[in-house]
Amino acid sequence: MKLLVAVKRVVDFNVRIRVKPDQSGVDLANLKMSMNPFDEIAVEEAVKLREAGAASDVAVVSAGPQAVQETIRTALAMGADRGIHIVTDEVLEPLAVAKLLKAVVEKEKPDLVILGKQAIDDDCNQVGQMLAALMGWPQGTFASKLVLADGRAEVTREIDGGLETVSLALPAIVTTDLRLNQPRYASLPNIMKARRKPIDALSPEVLGVDVKPRLTVVKVEEPPKRQAGKILANAAELVDKLRNEARVL
Ligand code: AMP
Repeated sequence: MKLLVAVKRVVDFNVRIRVKPDQSGVDLANLKMSMNPFDEIAVEEAVKLREAGAASDVAVVSAGPQAVQETIRTALAMGADRGIHIVTDEVLEPLAVAKLLKAVVEKEKPDLVILGKQAIDDDCNQVGQMLAALMGWPQGTFASKLVLADGRAEVTREIDGGLETVSLALPAIVTTDLRLNQPRYASLPNIMKARRKPIDALSPEVLGVDVKPRLTVVKVEEPPKRQAGKILANAAELVDKLRNEARVL
């Protein structure tokens, strides 16, 4: 069984981001970048399936500039077998990423593609669903449990008010939610080993995909600043404020 995992390089979740003065986007200069946290969960799940004998090959794919190789190396250090880098400096919208991944899927013929449920930079939550639609494959999104057996994937999904379990015929698309697993840290020996694992380079042109942006960003704004809190002297003052000042925003 072949697995393909899509990983995105994003601004690290601990970084406080700043909007550019001209409001055209987020200032990415000199910021710490990391693998999208949901994609770490996707890599972990794929590596666990291989370790359990349910999969034989774990390939990791990422689209973006040269620096994306670092993110692919992190996935290789976590245990993935090989990397695929779609090299492009273009700003990639989810539909462009889904089309690139479709081209890679057609080349690689994986039995299962695992993606994060969403990238924490654009919060789109679109690529997995778009890829499933473009391929005409079943999808199990927001997975908190994944079991492979008898040519099917059983996916437990986190939905409003509970859990839903769906059984998908393979090949299929799965997107990860937070509770699926706890991703491992790459050990130093594995980081060293990852340096020798292969990374194939492709490009949108080679894959025959037009990745030109279709959307125009009109404006990016910071959320309104929160006002400072007040410390009250006693419960009576609190009740008074709740009665006379509190309102739903
Ligand atoms: P999004 O729909 O943008 O929120 O992204 C959902 C998922 O698609 C991410 O968690 C990744 O698994 C995958 N993805 C998004 N952008 C890329 C990219 N540039 N390269 C590889 N995978 C990506």
